[in-house]
Amino acid sequence: MYMITKSQNISEHFHSSEFVCQHCGEIKIDENLVNKMENIFSKLKASKCIISSGYRCPEYDIQIGGFAGRHSEGLAADCVYYDKNGKMIPSKIVCCVAYDLGELNGIAKIDEYYVHLDNRSNGYYHGDEARGNDNYWENPYGYFGVSKEEVSKYTGNKSKPKTIALGDTVIVNGVGTASSTGEGARTINYVNQEMKVIMISGNTSRPNRYALNQYNKGVVNDPFSVTAWFSINDIKKV
Ligand SMILES: [Zn+2]
Ligand SMILES: [Zn+2]
Repeated sequence: MYMITKSQNISEHFHSSEFVCQHCGEIKIDENLVNKMENIFSKLKASKCIISSGYRCPEYDIQIGGFAGRHSEGLAADCVYYDKNGKMIPSKIVCCVAYDLGELNGIAKIDEYYVHLDNRSNGYYHGDEARGNDNYWENPYGYFGVSKEEVSKYTGNKSKPKTIALGDTVIVNGVGTASSTGEGARTINYVNQEMKVIMISGNTSRPNRYALNQYNKGVVNDPFSVTAWFSINDIKKV
């Protein structure tokens, strides 16, 4: 841990003076906290981050909070992130992104937009400061009722549509109507079956269906093959 105590640029988006104790002007801030705040910044594709309170000398921390906490150690900051359109990002979103990054042990919602972030090395703090100073959650998604989709509006981490191409090897879980020469069609429940894509349906009776061959032969109705049609939901590309 390296404590910054001078007025200086710390990182791309932060200057140490933003973390100054508002009561005495002293600067003391953990460089790693700032680096981790930068990681949240970039994950959120934020345009800016405004710090409402960074370092608080013990005297000031006791004065406003009743006890000397992580702010008095230079390990914490209360802040709000702004999106690329200049709008404040809801704190519950920031909590989820900070949680997913897994770098900070102290994450709390302060109000609708402000979060408390701290780089404590022992234990953790998953807070909701509107309620108190306790741990209130294990997983912020469930606690705050946030979906992955809401978060991906900021992070842009949308699950990519799967593209399956002819010749790909895939893993199949699902029921397929299989056929092989001489045996006719029958239903088979495939469990983690490795298969090869031998045909992609282009017609409307089987939209986006994939013919897979169990023995990777690459030919439909090969005498030794079993082929079956599957939807993309049954297929995992390897
Ligand atoms: Zn002070
Ligand atoms: Zn705080």
